[in-house]
Amino acid sequence: MASRSQIVKTLDALKHTLQDLADKGHRGFDCNSSSLEKLANWGSVRQLRSETLKDIRLDLGDCQRCKLARHRKNVVFGSGHPTAKLVFVGEGPGFEEDRQAEPFVGAAGQLLTKIIAAIDLTRNQVYICNIVKCRPPGNRNPETDEIDTCLPFLERQIAAIQPDYICALGAIAAQTLLNTTESISKLRGRFHQYKEIKVIATYHPAYLLRNPEKKRDVWEDMKMLMKEYPYET
Ligand code: URA
Repeated sequence: MASRSQIVKTLDALKHTLQDLADKGHRGFDCNSSSLEKLANWGSVRQLRSETLKDIRLDLGDCQRCKLARHRKNVVFGSGHPTAKLVFVGEGPGFEEDRQAEPFVGAAGQLLTKIIAAIDLTRNQVYICNIVKCRPPGNRNPETDEIDTCLPFLERQIAAIQPDYICALGAIAAQTLLNTTESISKLRGRFHQYKEIKVIATYHPAYLLRNPEKKRDVWEDMKMLMKEYPYET
């Protein structure tokens, strides 16, 4: 596979060729400055914010794209700052989230709010969303086809927000974003990469409610994030 720098080089050469052809009066392809900029940023999340969270929510609509639609009350899109530097990604809405159409508002959500406060942030300063936007019946894990159907919407949300950091909460979020089957206990404790965004994986707050002794590990993960987080900018 080509490295990122090889791709950037190739795109740069292509950009110059297209510009040159345009300068010489050739027509029949789109080489205006905004298209060339898009081209230069292809494959990157640091591209022009081409759509807003509102556009993506509108496109999602009263989603019927997968079988989760049959049982859910509400699509739980996400909440928080539209250009947050930090995005928390959970697994999928639970009972309370489905009822209120808001992510992480049940018992696990209250713990997440405390974790966010512990790193000197508020829910309004970060963005909170899930891998799947509809509640799996009985809070079972989302299935592969459901994740595959919903993931493009999360990818578009991340591209619209352009955060510096993502915190993946629990195995489903971490494994999906990092495209791995490694366990959450192995993934936590270090930074990973999703496109240009640094990813930290940690235990899900619902797991912490059942295993409070793991809070210490989550605090270590949050301290690692705090060391780097651009609080001042
Ligand atoms: N658990 C999740 O993964 N997401 C929520 O929104 C609530 C609970």
